[in-house]
Amino acid sequence: MQKLSVEEIKKLAEKIAKEKLAPHASEIDQNRSFPWENICELRKAGFFGLGIAEFDRVRFATVVKEIAKACPSTALVYVSHSIVEKAIEYTGSEAIKKKWPLEILRKRGLGAFAVHEPDCGSNAGAITTQAKKDGDIYLVNGSKFFITSAGEADLYLVLVRTDPEKGPQGMSTLLIEKDTPGLSFGLPEDKMGLRSTSSREMFFGDCRVPVDHLIGKEGEGTQVIGKAVIGWGFFGAAAISVGIAQAATDLSIKHAKERIIAGQPIGAHQAVQFMITDMTVETEAADALLNNCANKADSFPDTAIINGLKAKLFASEIAVDVTNKAIQVHGGHGYCREYVVERLFRDARGLLLHFKTSEWLRQDIAKATLGL
Ligand SMILES: Cc1cc2nc3c(=O)[nH]c(=O)nc-3n(C[C@H](O)[C@H](O)[C@H](O)COP(=O)(O)OP(=O)(O)OC[C@H]3O[C@@H](n4cnc5c(N)ncnc54)[C@H](O)[C@@H]3O)c2cc1C
Repeated sequence: MQKLSVEEIKKLAEKIAKEKLAPHASEIDQNRSFPWENICELRKAGFFGLGIAEFDRVRFATVVKEIAKACPSTALVYVSHSIVEKAIEYTGSEAIKKKWPLEILRKRGLGAFAVHEPDCGSNAGAITTQAKKDGDIYLVNGSKFFITSAGEADLYLVLVRTDPEKGPQGMSTLLIEKDTPGLSFGLPEDKMGLRSTSSREMFFGDCRVPVDHLIGKEGEGTQVIGKAVIGWGFFGAAAISVGIAQAATDLSIKHAKERIIAGQPIGAHQAVQFMITDMTVETEAADALLNNCANKADSFPDTAIINGLKAKLFASEIAVDVTNKAIQVHGGHGYCREYVVERLFRDARGLLLHFKTSEWLRQDIAKATLGL
């Protein structure tokens, strides 16, 4: 895909999201079906192979927002995949780039990233999954928890400990293929929201990974995760939240005009107007912050981490507040499965936990701001 303007890319993504993704978003949420058809549509549109599509964070966030307005689960699967592409682009060796060129990922193959473990929370420094070098392979042992697209994706970016003595400097990242001997998956979690994303545990039992699947150098795991997950993926997480908030706001404005009680639309009441005002302003503020942070990160890549943390924190909290108000505007209807705002609220809630909890984000931002 030649480099499209932000406006052109928005129009393209909006068309696909409205025509192809939105019509069955509620159905796949209820059935917990993995959104393979949607992934195919995004691939056909040229939204995979991000490096060759010359996506910057602003364009990426633009596409993700439109996808999320229609189907946040699909947006999360897409963002998780994009992290693997970016890890390859930013830090992959020539051998890795040859084995998984972005041209191939553009046509087939889905990626996912696996940092979280049952006992590490948002603290990647507490992971215990080990990778021990044995000739030309790493023997990987341990488990990863709550991994989006686990069992469905073909290629996993996995944070492991290559030197247990070295703390953060002892962590590395490996690319592990789905059919690698010693890798197995748990059952999908029955989640509150983002239900078609397939969150599963990954088990590594003497999993044999060729040494040339190392991404970056040994000991550079934190940097790879910083660049690909925080410095790129967090903008995707923020964009999902903004997309959700925008969709909830649009639906609420429509409902406030159409719902007539005692001869009056509910939007005629000041109490409802105030909620609509807050939703509109909050969503616009989150979108503006996301665009501002993405622009800064694109222009000054050294600032990508702090900007990613800020955009994600603000947008994910706004999305929960806005979708909560959307349910209020919809009254009892908004509490029913039949209404899209009910799903949007459940989906927004997951983003307060994933990609670091709000508590961790606040701590990280404070430390960076205070230089601690
Ligand atoms: C929908 C979804 C998809 C996900 N997909 C992926 C994925 O693809 N890949 C991946 O690697 N992970 C994924 N995760 C995991 C996600 O990263 C973790 O859920 C998240 O980091 C929080 O960890 P936890 O669930 O263990 O919560 P806990 O760490 O148990 O946290 C519980 C509470 O304690 C607070 N807390 C914990 N420690 C501290 C502290 N030191 N200071 C202050 N407060 C603290 C937390 O903020 C939170 O409020 C996903 C999660 C969700 C919900």
